Amino acid sequence: MRWIMHVDMDAFFASVEQMDHPEYQGKPLIVCGLSSRGVVSTCSYEARKYGVHSAMSTVKAQQLCPQGIFIPGRHQRYEEVSSEIMAIFHEFSPCVEPLSIDEAFLDLSGMEKLVGNVESLGAKVKARIKKDVGLTASVGLAPNKFLAKLASDLDKPDGCVIIHQKEAAAFIAPLPVGKIFGVGARTQEGLKRLGITTIGQLATADSAYLQPVLGNNTEELRQLALGLDTRPVINDWEQKSIGKENTFMVDLHTEEERHKALWDLCQQVGWRVRLGKKVGHTVTLKVKYNDFKSITRSITTEVPISLDEDIFAFIRQLAGAVKWSRPVRLLGVSLSKIAPEGEILLDLDDNTKKKKRIDAIDALKKKFGENIIHRG
Ligand SMILES: [Mg+2]
Repeated sequence: MRWIMHVDMDAFFASVEQMDHPEYQGKPLIVCGLSSRGVVSTCSYEARKYGVHSAMSTVKAQQLCPQGIFIPGRHQRYEEVSSEIMAIFHEFSPCVEPLSIDEAFLDLSGMEKLVGNVESLGAKVKARIKKDVGLTASVGLAPNKFLAKLASDLDKPDGCVIIHQKEAAAFIAPLPVGKIFGVGARTQEGLKRLGITTIGQLATADSAYLQPVLGNNTEELRQLALGLDTRPVINDWEQKSIGKENTFMVDLHTEEERHKALWDLCQQVGWRVRLGKKVGHTVTLKVKYNDFKSITRSITTEVPISLDEDIFAFIRQLAGAVKWSRPVRLLGVSLSKIAPEGEILLDLDDNTKKKKRIDAIDALKKKFGENIIHRG
């Protein structure tokens, strides 16, 4: 029996702030960019009552909720809480696929033998996060990814919804088609013109009838509408690449800003690579400019690497060949062609020294959290 759990933290950034600052509890709290072009990243449930939501401009949110508390995000803190949550997920399943900083799929298939009743795990994961981290999460438990993600969203906040395969199609039939991930406003409009507004109507409609609106996605979406989805949960540690990217609140203009941002990213990637006891061969730099055009540049090394300095050395080399003619909106660093650490011996003198130093740093990070040390 296949069982997939989707766990999604409730109003994550705002909840972390309310936990860290008790004076914010019970108040409309909006975590957002404070500049004139800022947007809301998350807001507390108290703020949602005023119509404030994620991705809305901060200016609009201020109009809707003038008494709200508007604060900038503390992303390092959210990363820190996120790694605590992800570590809990790994205790419940060896196969965890993070979707973002505050949500993940857990494959619980075949765990009946270990835990008896898989359905009971939803409440257990939630209780564990509440007790150890202090936050509430919403859980969806279902036979596939699509249903699990849909379920976790149905009873937010602090929800736990279980969907069984035999009842799945009937369960989702009355829901609006927009609940299907990937069916955005435009597709909803198109379907509405065909007289289709619910998932059930989509499931029973003729393929040829849907084709003009759904195109190549017709069959895939019809499968989802029937509650069927075969996509596997892809374990974080088996990923073919390990990367981090950062979209900046304010575009970067100078070499110094880019240098600092890239070094931060290299440290985050290096840490994740070493935590998984891996090394990688290909270093990739991603740049998105303020006009949303993006480029990627890669380099493959002969000797596999995992140390922050080594990743950074290649990133600097790649960055040196990029034309920095426009302001930068996003930077990303990733390491791919990943292999287990043990396969290769790094016995160069220089590397042994570097390795010793980084081992000491990693030991501190493991003990006190990733953000204990940031090297300048
Ligand atoms: Mg969330």
